[in-house]
Amino acid sequence: MVYGVPHLINGEKLQLEKRKLDIYNPSNGEVAGYVSVADQEVVDQAVASALKAFPAWSATPSTQRAKILFRFKALLDENLKELAALVTQEHGKTLIEAAGSVQRGIDVVEFACGIPSHLKGDFAEEVASGIDSYSMRQPLGVCVGITPFNFPGMIPLWMFPLAIACGNTFVLKPSEKVPSCALKIVELAKKAGVPDGVVNVVQGDKETVDALITHKDVNAVSFVGSSAIAEYVYKTAINHNKRVQAFGGAKNHCLVMPDADLDQAVEAIVLAAFGSSGERCMAISVVVTIDDKTADALVEKFKPRIQALKVGMGTTANIDIGPLITKAHWEKVKSYVDLGKKEGAKVILDGSDLEVTEAKNGFFMGPCLFDHVKPNMRIYQEEIFGPVLIVVRMNNFDSALQMINQHDYGNGTAIYTRDGYTARVFAEKVQVGMVGINVPVPVPVPSHSFGGWKRSIFSDIGMYGPEAVRFYTKLKTVTARWYPKEKAK
Ligand code: NAD
Repeated sequence: MVYGVPHLINGEKLQLEKRKLDIYNPSNGEVAGYVSVADQEVVDQAVASALKAFPAWSATPSTQRAKILFRFKALLDENLKELAALVTQEHGKTLIEAAGSVQRGIDVVEFACGIPSHLKGDFAEEVASGIDSYSMRQPLGVCVGITPFNFPGMIPLWMFPLAIACGNTFVLKPSEKVPSCALKIVELAKKAGVPDGVVNVVQGDKETVDALITHKDVNAVSFVGSSAIAEYVYKTAINHNKRVQAFGGAKNHCLVMPDADLDQAVEAIVLAAFGSSGERCMAISVVVTIDDKTADALVEKFKPRIQALKVGMGTTANIDIGPLITKAHWEKVKSYVDLGKKEGAKVILDGSDLEVTEAKNGFFMGPCLFDHVKPNMRIYQEEIFGPVLIVVRMNNFDSALQMINQHDYGNGTAIYTRDGYTARVFAEKVQVGMVGINVPVPVPVPSHSFGGWKRSIFSDIGMYGPEAVRFYTKLKTVTARWYPKEKAK
């Protein structure tokens, strides 16, 4: 039966029969559910609910907020399986990948539990005669989070728990393609004791986003999605005087040096490139070599390893690659595979027409590998966001580094080498926000912060970790002098 995913405003579910958007089951290609789009009126209700909840919540001691977050984390742990099942149902990725991604979100909630110490300010005694100086960080008010389809649980968890830990209230707009996991997560927050109105959820698309990012009572916007929309959200929200962080797309290079352990590199790159069907902003999508011998050896090792990957429904055991998110996205990825052939790249593996027999109408695509890709080809320059890995052969370290640095995107990158000095130079010189040294997907742990460079980010402050504590608070600095009650005789 087709299900409807409601909004959640002031602790109440709200199912409205307004304009509807279909939710697909990508494994069988069928419409499984729908969301009704929150228009201006519904967004006004959600923001009003968050604004009303703000005075009491921001005045709640941080230790009390932390206690609620500890309960929230415990509930997330208890419900991990169910949350992962919701991710797989609407996104399609395997249950193992789904659980792993939700776990990465829970790790950020764990960081948020330490909010009393994250909010500690600085104090300097006697900065002038009889004068002390101290700083504090105070919440902003109503914050908004707009999230993409590829991590239905993780990215909402990278946003609202820290925002509310800092004393803000929140309106979350999950991707309309995968709304159920985020809604369940916010229901668990309510169960943990987060008061009604502190976290609200509105479903929808551009209409909802526009109403949120221009709303007079919204103070800050966190966005994750494709670069064109990230730029649009950034500029629009900035023009409406919001604090904004907007994270965009990616094209992540992995430089494999001639001295690398190629078996280790191949195993790591294959999982980093094809996990979640390549629908990851930190997926490795380009392998770079600086000599033909390494490139030839890598391609030879890639072939059997990639051919061994099993494509199928995310709920089936031992599957490596689930379906793509929608038919439209499948067509987009397929058009890049066709383009790569037209542009003259050498096809090593083409899984784009693969059929999964038990799920013929699912949006499945097998892995594809191109060699001899040139930097002027669009399959190199543009984000494909599917199971397509390309190999670019350069002549030396400097030209490889220069090529990576000239790319429009700068989210993540990695180097495989056994030479510490080369790795150090790479990490220092590369114009990319997150760097892996013999680590293929260098997503920072929650005590650091996440964020790319160039067209992978619009703004300059990262998600989660200490950067997010700064993003979700404003600094106040007090310079204080106290006179004695009676002047000393
Ligand atoms: P998307 O940009 O299509 O959608 C993201 C959000 O924006 C959704 O909530 C959607 O409803 C909303 N939206 C869509 N069109 C809009 C418009 N015209 N105006 C206003 N809002 C709009 O992205 P997606 O397809 O859901 O996600 C995939 C993209 O996200 C990829 O480009 C991927 O690299 C990127 N991504 C980036 C990161 C990162 O941290 N840098 C993480 C995950 C995904």
